[in-house]
Amino acid sequence: MSAQVHALKASTPRAAQQPDALRPAVAIHGQAVHAPRSAAAQTLADPAARPTQLVPPVAQHFAPTPFKVFTARDLDRIPQLARLTPEQRFEMKVVAAVLPFRVNQYVIDELIDWADVPRDPIFQLTFPQRGMLAPEHYDRIATLLENGADKDELEHAVAEVRHALNPHPADQMQMNMPLDEHGNRIDGLQHKYRETVLFFPSQGQTCHAYCTFCFRWAQFVGDKDLRIASSEARQLHDYLRSHPEVTDLLVTGGDPMVMKTRHLRDYLEPLLRPEFDHIQTIRIGSKALTFWPHRFLGAEDADDLMHLLQQLVEAGKHVALMAHYNHWKELETDAAQAAIRRIRATGVVIRAQGPLIAHINDDPAAWARLWKTEVRLGLVPYYMFVERDTGARHYFEVPLARAWEIYQQAIQQVSGLARTARGPSMSASPGKVEIQGVTEIAGEKVFVLRFIQGRNPDWVQRPFFAKFDAQATWLDQLVPAFGEEKWFWQDEYEAIREEKLAE
Ligand code: SF4
Repeated sequence: MSAQVHALKASTPRAAQQPDALRPAVAIHGQAVHAPRSAAAQTLADPAARPTQLVPPVAQHFAPTPFKVFTARDLDRIPQLARLTPEQRFEMKVVAAVLPFRVNQYVIDELIDWADVPRDPIFQLTFPQRGMLAPEHYDRIATLLENGADKDELEHAVAEVRHALNPHPADQMQMNMPLDEHGNRIDGLQHKYRETVLFFPSQGQTCHAYCTFCFRWAQFVGDKDLRIASSEARQLHDYLRSHPEVTDLLVTGGDPMVMKTRHLRDYLEPLLRPEFDHIQTIRIGSKALTFWPHRFLGAEDADDLMHLLQQLVEAGKHVALMAHYNHWKELETDAAQAAIRRIRATGVVIRAQGPLIAHINDDPAAWARLWKTEVRLGLVPYYMFVERDTGARHYFEVPLARAWEIYQQAIQQVSGLARTARGPSMSASPGKVEIQGVTEIAGEKVFVLRFIQGRNPDWVQRPFFAKFDAQATWLDQLVPAFGEEKWFWQDEYEAIREEKLAE
């Protein structure tokens, strides 16, 4: 199949036709009429009465840029790959038969330094690498491809390999799916922590490119059983209405920014009604600032997106774009920086987070430069995550002890404003567990751990200790220190787990 040119053609934005199109945020806000909360809510009854006085911040001029995407079937059409050997290109095809692959022209042309391939971090971030499959899995799929196996045989083998890769880590399918009042599972929602609901809109279950280490890779391989998605705005709103303890909605994917603005509006605009006053914060998880910053600049509905964000902010919601970054190179292009300026001018806060990944950013200097660049551009460093226990983890994982060293050495190089970055943090089934340090207590070398978030809020901030293990890469490989038989939270967690699995 030839590379698809999508309908996301970026047109010259109206406002960009003006000279000196990017005005400072103060001037932009000077033009906005600050609608009171009640007025914003009133407009919902009459969409025609939306607060048109809000003037979305204008975009710097960028030439019209088509969104051109390449998938596994298009590998031979990427001219830059001609510099690799035929063996290397075949290896990519083997890996891409199992794990999702998708890249676009912007990433290829502007983010990857092809003179440094295969070491280039953005190449490692987006292109399949042989080491991503265990040798026995690689050999099995490679042999089938070499021998021209029939479709059924190949699909069967691929499915078996995928299922061996822990497609839904941390019991996502079993433990985080909420039930409605009739006890039916609600697709597309996860409710793990009391105050935060995750929403997976069905139109946002893809990304502008795929990360090789993606922990949600299972959603992209076309297996319906593995997808978590909903297109039901009503279900989302019903659930939030009946859960006043929820203060934060996280819209996630995939990448919700692949959606048309009108879909995002259908989900988010109703939250301005008084019955949703308890939803104080709307977070949108996205890597579009890295993979397709033109989404916020010249895309046909970019102005409408800015307008929607501004509307939510002006109505009193805290709106946070949870931007996924792995490397400072993602922040270096003109388009990336213009998109950041435009989003910030709406009043949206951009918080930056991403996992620590071998071959991409397992280096304190890379993290220090990333955090410094984020602060310079007005972003808030938020999390350094530990690579999750799924997919090609054996290729990308970094031992917890090394992760903590990298975090410590990086944070020591930055000023206080960048020390908002928490980590290294594991999003495990009991909760988000941070490695706070390595130390020696009563002659025993230990990891000091704490919950940043827990299934029981009472666990949060209580330090606990694990026996030091230089090789461990995840919570389930650690054991309690000082000869303790259990973690302080273990009995309670097991009871919660049993209850959820019985539902
Ligand atoms: S942006 Fe997020 S969801 Fe999309 S491929 Fe990367 S890690 Fe996965």
